[in-house]
Amino acid sequence: MSNFFKRSALGASVPHNKHTAHKETVVMPLPTKIVLSMGQHIGAPAAPVVAKGDQVYVGSVVGKAAGFVSMDIHSGVSGTVDAITTITAPNGAPQTAVVIIPDGKQTVDPAIKPPVVTDLASLQDAVRASGLVGLGGAGFPAAVKLAPKNLDEIDVLVINGAECEPYITSDNRCMQEDTDYVIKGIQTIMKYLDIPKCVIGIEANKPDDIKKLSEETKDMPIEVKALPCKYPQGAEKVLIETCTGREVPFPGLPSDVGVIVMNVTSVAFIAKYLETGIPLTTKRLTVDGDIVRNPGNVEVVIGTPIQELLDFCGGLTEEPGKILYGGPMMGTCVASAEQPILKNNNAVLALSRKLAEPVKATNCIHCGRCTNACPLGLSAKEIVRAYETKNVDLLVELNADLCMSCGTCSFVCPAKRPLAPSIALAKIMMKNGGKK
Ligand code: SF4
Ligand code: SF4
Repeated sequence: MSNFFKRSALGASVPHNKHTAHKETVVMPLPTKIVLSMGQHIGAPAAPVVAKGDQVYVGSVVGKAAGFVSMDIHSGVSGTVDAITTITAPNGAPQTAVVIIPDGKQTVDPAIKPPVVTDLASLQDAVRASGLVGLGGAGFPAAVKLAPKNLDEIDVLVINGAECEPYITSDNRCMQEDTDYVIKGIQTIMKYLDIPKCVIGIEANKPDDIKKLSEETKDMPIEVKALPCKYPQGAEKVLIETCTGREVPFPGLPSDVGVIVMNVTSVAFIAKYLETGIPLTTKRLTVDGDIVRNPGNVEVVIGTPIQELLDFCGGLTEEPGKILYGGPMMGTCVASAEQPILKNNNAVLALSRKLAEPVKATNCIHCGRCTNACPLGLSAKEIVRAYETKNVDLLVELNADLCMSCGTCSFVCPAKRPLAPSIALAKIMMKNGGKK
């Protein structure tokens, strides 16, 4: 556990590879189709409310939330529903999806209008209707975050602008290109949730963002904090400790220490949505990797097939060894380039066979680096040993379920042991009561 170490002092120095940091976002033309997964959030998948042949518009609801932490799914194009189909979700499970063929007109749904927000309840309703999930990667519905049970105890809004994953620069571009929306979104949340203070945490490798936001917020109760360049500064518990000095207890939530955390792109989206009423239907993504011809930041309609996005970026210079949703530390491999862009994707990386080739693992040398680097103080090697011997009681004792799959332990391991993926399997085994 982390009682004797500051989480922010742990982690690892990973290569930044922020090649696209200064590349302005370009808007990709409409794809030939969009494939809208009904599972773009952590809760129950949405239920399709359209059928083959239906006409839809920009902003039309095509999937209805099916639970408290579920979310509506909206079309980002006007066009015709071509199919209700099944695709493979990033976790390998089958997932229902709605396929829409754009008509090129981009007619906005006549029901779309900017929401009227006058108090907290109407803000929460608006954010729920917008379809917003945490855009930093987790896919947690934003409306739920804005409804903590102990609202009167919340005194700090922490904004995650860390963007600590190698390669990814989409939040960085948001802070540069949508600065006003970032600030407006923060002010809206502070106003309606009556939060007196905000801290924006940005890794120190983004001096332009730190400078710009510091200047623009100098007369506001908003502090811009430069975070150490030590992965994973963007992990919620690490970020809270670095920005506020408060340690989220185990088990516990940010609200237990008076904090709400929102991603920088999420707050910018909220401000835009309140102005336009257009739900979450597009996404800014970093497209990079050693075999992408023209890496950059691209705004795409959610549901765009990855292959069409890669083609827009000039295609690949060779057959990929691996294509990832997200960065190399926490990203997930895509099963096929036909898979669609999801709401919570912030990058697509295409890596050569040489870069993607797994390094041969050797025996553990008991150096303890994995434990020393884990921001949660977990002992990765002990957890993996408990997993290999199917010792669920020991996994519970070692708090394996707290692991956030940040990949730091695998990165620092000199024996190149796949610790983080094994711990992910250990967590599944815990859920299944001891079955692998
Ligand atoms: S993957 Fe899990 S065990 Fe490994 S460093 Fe991250 S939180 Fe710790
Ligand atoms: S870092 Fe690797 S070699 Fe060192 S103790 Fe952990 S698992 Fe073993």
